[in-house]
Amino acid sequence: MRAAALVGALVLGAGVAAAQQEGPAQYSREWYQQFSGSYSNPVEPFRIVGNIHYVGAANIASYLVTTPQGHILIDTGMNEMHDVITNNVVKLGFKVEDIRIMLSSHAHFDHIEGHAAMQRATGAQVMAMTGDAEALESGHDSSALGALGWEPVKVSRVLGHGDTVSLGGTTLRALHAPGHTQGATTWRTTVEDGGRQYAVAILGGTLPNGGVRLLGNPRHKNVIEDTRRTLRTLRAEAQPDIVLVGHPQAMFAKTADRVRKGERPHPLLNGAEMWTKALASQEAQFEKRVAEERTTLGR
Ligand SMILES: [Zn+2]
Repeated sequence: MRAAALVGALVLGAGVAAAQQEGPAQYSREWYQQFSGSYSNPVEPFRIVGNIHYVGAANIASYLVTTPQGHILIDTGMNEMHDVITNNVVKLGFKVEDIRIMLSSHAHFDHIEGHAAMQRATGAQVMAMTGDAEALESGHDSSALGALGWEPVKVSRVLGHGDTVSLGGTTLRALHAPGHTQGATTWRTTVEDGGRQYAVAILGGTLPNGGVRLLGNPRHKNVIEDTRRTLRTLRAEAQPDIVLVGHPQAMFAKTADRVRKGERPHPLLNGAEMWTKALASQEAQFEKRVAEERTTLGR
């Protein structure tokens, strides 16, 4: 038991020492293991809508946006998912070497640990939002969570709020949403499918992870203001038709099979629930959390 705890401490490093003082129920070996374990299990890839495809694992997403001039990959997940993603890309009839641009939802190990290996395999340009770009290059989690790091990866283009990434006729617009990590990014695009247009949002995370310290967080000092700004930014946007998330187990439980079959109306028309309703309830949740922490810490 003691040996296991020691190995954990060595592997997880300083972030965990800080985290243990903050006391969340996260960072245990069990918490980390679910990501490289069941969450990384292979699943059959499928086209979601238009040129957006699911190529990720059982509960960690990776989205492939295909174009005639090469592809964009959003999130690479855990190292364990490298073969899952590359096999899924091939199964859908695309070439891994045609991935030209790699993006991310946010710089937490479970979404970008695989970036370095995928960059080597594809030669793609890595683009990332300011705040996360530095974290990707340093290999350290600079978010309020401060979890496990990753192999550093070179970022070719640092993005700012509202910047666009275009390839082969598809444009993704980057919304800086620095609540969950300092450069968390919600991606917005519009795709054509069966004669209609769908506004799609790929969510970069909104609130800081549950249990992490908000007031005086040692890594993300203005996390409270940044989270409020994130919620304002997202709520000011038009409601998307389809919201895609980083941990899509609910989609696999409820709608993935119907999406695979190409059912219309599209089974994932979840914008009202996953955007408008969710953002309002997250705002209330977050303010309650801030107030509770102020009471506890007497500030
Ligand atoms: Zn995260």
